[in-house]
Amino acid sequence: MPSGPGRGTRGVTGTQAANEASAQPPDTRYRGRFAPSPTGRLHAGSLVGALASYLDARAHGGTWLVRIEDIDGPRTVPGADQDIIRTLARFGMQSDEPVVRQSARTSLYSEALAQLDRAGLIYPCGCTRKEIADSLANAHARHTTLAYPGTCRQGLHGKSARAWRLRVPDQADASIAFDDRWQGRQTQNLALEVGDFVLKRADGQWAYQLAVVVDDAEQGITHVVRGADLLDSTARQIYLQRCLGVPTPSYLHVPVVTDAQGEKLSKQTGARELDAEAPLPALLAAATHLGLALKYDAPGYRSLDAFYGDAIAAWSERFVQRQA
Ligand code: GLU
Repeated sequence: MPSGPGRGTRGVTGTQAANEASAQPPDTRYRGRFAPSPTGRLHAGSLVGALASYLDARAHGGTWLVRIEDIDGPRTVPGADQDIIRTLARFGMQSDEPVVRQSARTSLYSEALAQLDRAGLIYPCGCTRKEIADSLANAHARHTTLAYPGTCRQGLHGKSARAWRLRVPDQADASIAFDDRWQGRQTQNLALEVGDFVLKRADGQWAYQLAVVVDDAEQGITHVVRGADLLDSTARQIYLQRCLGVPTPSYLHVPVVTDAQGEKLSKQTGARELDAEAPLPALLAAATHLGLALKYDAPGYRSLDAFYGDAIAAWSERFVQRQA
């Protein structure tokens, strides 16, 4: 049984249950994570992502980390990080290693950008949002692509540098494919569908794509489990991993929770706060959303331990490959 600093006893109990259920040896190399942006409190939608990543880590007998993605200064809500960590703990999920914050790791992002610069893979871009929108509107009218048209690829033409972009390969070589453990085979042509993408923004903030790739690599993440709203970012991340010479983790994107209007549940769309005093009903709802067949509904579970034992076994049954 692997044990790490801060490993919660609930997780250990659940892992034992799952290991017994699946007769799998623990995968001590497995490292997964939940990476919330502290833009508000945890809600039913973000709980699904947290639970899925936690169950996958426990079902493998691996390590589960929490990383606070607080590089987007303007969107960060003071105190939300602590609130998320506290709420996760009340729901029975604790990071196996000390929680890291992206805001304290910007030197890693600078190093990665410098490495890409030395390799000639990035260029400064002087386009304003309006210029890009105008050129995309023209492209649309001509039924061509909606990707960034590469205006500054050959130089700034007198404009001043605002953002840094990563050069993507030409169309013929820009197809990135991967097998998502939930969604199946995915393919995206970066040249056609995305274009050269931003790694450092015009407002000086690090882009999510760069920070997430650098952190997943630096933390040795082997399995990414997160919401399907990020499925579309994955090809960019895989390409960036190749440019930086770091491994590509395996990916599993769970369906996002939507509201009555079909919008992704978020603070902006009025997601209700979770009741930290009564975690089981919300956990059961999250497990149901994940399609897990559990023995009981909420009143049947007397403890978080009992819930996690069943949930890890059900996840394991569905998502952890059995050895013959
Ligand atoms: N911080 C991102 C979010 O909250 C998630 C990043 C990830 O899991 O890759 O949407």
